[in-house]
Amino acid sequence: MQLFRYIALVVLFAEGCDTAKKVQVSGVKPVVKTDTATVQVIHERPLYRAAETRLTEVVHTKLEVKFDWAKTYLYGQATLTCRPYFYNEDRVELDARGMDIHEVALLKAEAMPDGRQEKTKLDYTYTGELLKINLDKSYSRQDTFRLFIDYTAKPNELKKKGGSAAISDDKGLYFINPDGKEKDKPREIWTQGETQSNSVWFPCIDKPNEKMTEEIYITVDTNFTTLSNGELVYQKENGDGTRTDYWTMELPHSTYLVMMAVGEFKVVKDKWRDREVNYYMEAAYAPYAKAIFGKTPEMIETFSTLLGVDYPWNKYSQVIVRDYVSGAMENTTATLHGEFLNQTSREMLDKDFEDVISHELFHHWFGDLVTCESWSNIPLNESFATYGEYLWIERKYGREAADGHRREDLDKYMREARRKQVNLVRYDYTDREEVFDRHTYEKGGLILHMLRKYVGDEVFFAALKLYLQTNKFGNAEVANLRMAFEKVCGEDLNWFFNEWFFASGYPDLEITRDYSPISQHYTVTIEQKQDFAKTPLYKLPMDIDLYSEGKVVRKRIVVDKQKQSFEFEAAVQPLFVNVDAEQMVVAKVKDTCQSTAELAYAYHHLPLYENRREALLGLFRNKSSDQYKECIQSALDDPCWELRVLAISGLEPVLKGNENALREKLVGVAGRDPKSLVRGKALTFLSKNFSEPSLISVYRDALKDSSYSVISRGLVALSKADSLEGLRTAKTMEKDKNVQVLFAVMQVYDRYGSDENNDFFVSEQDKFKGQWLSSFVFVYGEFLLRCSDGTVNKGLKLFSGLVTEEDNYLKFSLRTTLTELESMYAKRKKKLEEQISARIEKKEETGDLAAKKEEVEGVLKKIEALVPPKEGKTISSRF
Ligand SMILES: [Zn+2]
Repeated sequence: MQLFRYIALVVLFAEGCDTAKKVQVSGVKPVVKTDTATVQVIHERPLYRAAETRLTEVVHTKLEVKFDWAKTYLYGQATLTCRPYFYNEDRVELDARGMDIHEVALLKAEAMPDGRQEKTKLDYTYTGELLKINLDKSYSRQDTFRLFIDYTAKPNELKKKGGSAAISDDKGLYFINPDGKEKDKPREIWTQGETQSNSVWFPCIDKPNEKMTEEIYITVDTNFTTLSNGELVYQKENGDGTRTDYWTMELPHSTYLVMMAVGEFKVVKDKWRDREVNYYMEAAYAPYAKAIFGKTPEMIETFSTLLGVDYPWNKYSQVIVRDYVSGAMENTTATLHGEFLNQTSREMLDKDFEDVISHELFHHWFGDLVTCESWSNIPLNESFATYGEYLWIERKYGREAADGHRREDLDKYMREARRKQVNLVRYDYTDREEVFDRHTYEKGGLILHMLRKYVGDEVFFAALKLYLQTNKFGNAEVANLRMAFEKVCGEDLNWFFNEWFFASGYPDLEITRDYSPISQHYTVTIEQKQDFAKTPLYKLPMDIDLYSEGKVVRKRIVVDKQKQSFEFEAAVQPLFVNVDAEQMVVAKVKDTCQSTAELAYAYHHLPLYENRREALLGLFRNKSSDQYKECIQSALDDPCWELRVLAISGLEPVLKGNENALREKLVGVAGRDPKSLVRGKALTFLSKNFSEPSLISVYRDALKDSSYSVISRGLVALSKADSLEGLRTAKTMEKDKNVQVLFAVMQVYDRYGSDENNDFFVSEQDKFKGQWLSSFVFVYGEFLLRCSDGTVNKGLKLFSGLVTEEDNYLKFSLRTTLTELESMYAKRKKKLEEQISARIEKKEETGDLAAKKEEVEGVLKKIEALVPPKEGKTISSRF
């Protein structure tokens, strides 16, 4: 499947190269006309808030830790090698949250002959957040001194400070299933440092611009495996059922990147050049380790080559843990992933997580090697890691696939921009967690792509190399990145960085076009329509391609006025004029004056995924046109699967008179398309639009597909065509392990089942997590609407176990579902009341109805008590 896409792209690129050469021979010159004055732009500049002042440095941390699973405590001894940053210091302030501090002492420089360290006790005060230590004298920056701290970390007794939108908690240290009472869940311990949570489990200076080397002795029961940063130097059996693992990290990195993980992991070994690449897995998923992570060495090689800076660390390990509080975390040399990465090879046919794996790996240059100086400069970590996903997909699968990924990012950013527009670099945040948003990730990645397209690949990658080499093992602000680019290409780039990193919003462009056969000019007019009180008037370099018979002419224009016209000499009207031909500008674009003929030409002749997508979407505006009919059917064979899905979603208007051909075509797509999501989409379309009994065999065949999503759609389609066969088949699939399949079974029961299927919903509920759980609530709620009071009561019991969950999606689905049930019971109650009144009028017995009404009221009261309130913050994943 991937090979198929790749070959298709090679063909496209070959055509693109050919046309690019023809640009050289054209003599057409653009004439730039401006018809409005420059708009005064007011930038609101927040005051610079000193980010991270440094008084004392911790240059090295040595930790010895062991765990109390019953109390969920960590017993630790820390030895911190410190040095005043510049000024003389006679006190040190350390971050240490929620600990018991037992002893603070100064260690003598020399150890005693028996190896013990002589200690001098030091005075200190402890606020529960800060450990303020008075030193024995004043130290200068030429001195180093070693602090010894004996402490107990108590993460579960920490007063909750609210966590963030990104990380749902900030405990730093997590004990998973500590008493082993949860069946089917392993016992684990793992840490999450970002942003400033590692100070819960060791005393430190918990700031991103604090870099240190470290070593850690982790003592665990012998059945556990440990993972930490750097190298596992040795493991020592202690003879009491415990073992101590000694890890050292000899290169400096930031405090928040320190990690450890403890669990009964199986370690699957891999290799990049001569360095270890390891995957720490639950035993059940170890057979899939290579399928999940196997491209990691190739990714490391790809990024090392692309950046001209080899992977800088001694090893690369990845671990998957349970109940992780975020998406994944780039702890140096030891990335930690949430359990969504636990997938079988079959599950990966529908969706893999190479984007997440490449994201965390790219952080090992951008984030770990060069770290943002403060959280205000977090785009230097996250925008790059997000762009790392694009770079991997582009290198491995081609531009077409990468552009599909870019489109997802652009949509995500634009969705957030509807409710929030902020600068990328924010010195004025109120909570440091709020910078982890779709601006920092997706918009930042899109901006880097735009910068790459503007300066060209050679400058872009040379500048990244210079930036990495100049700032390695240190910290940077966005200005450091700008200066690296300026040093390589010579151009002052303040304009670009000011527009995109230090201002909010995006260009809102309206494009109009006109061709005059008399003057023989084609005119493109571009108007910037954003609100200039909040958003800059942008300078936007972009390319325009003019297509005429047999050739393409490319011109670079610079849009820098509110409204600007660009005229191009053209003896005959061009077949198509492609504005922003490289699809580089991050903007909202209204460009609606192309004819259907032009759009059809664009669909068939333009080289990029985004060009073809825009052409199809443009044609959607005129669904009765012949061009729409032709292009939407051609797009069923588009090399890009996203466009094949788009094509199926646009087929209904062309069905009439074309039924047989389209049915046959879609039967072929459902059986043979290389992408499972396209096969599934075709099944759903067939099921919705055709009722021929012959299709039942197509749906039966879908049940034998390798992809779970196709099987699921096949089952739902089958039940729609023949509900009895659907129900019978669903019953045979109740034991399936895949959540998608279980969900499809539930959809069948929802539509055609009865009370007797309730037990299945109840017994399988705990298999649904995250957004799947919200979907479960919706489908179960619909099922209950058709059930008896007894079953509804059982359902309410299940819902009552979910209403306390924090997840906002879940709250929304519960609220919607319970409100529907509430309204159904309110109607039933009203109807019974009317019936009772009618009987009273007729002087008839009402006892049976009154009893029924009482029952209904009882259920209604239970429902009302469960409907969750509307407020609550959204919890999203971060990577
Ligand atoms: Zn990240």
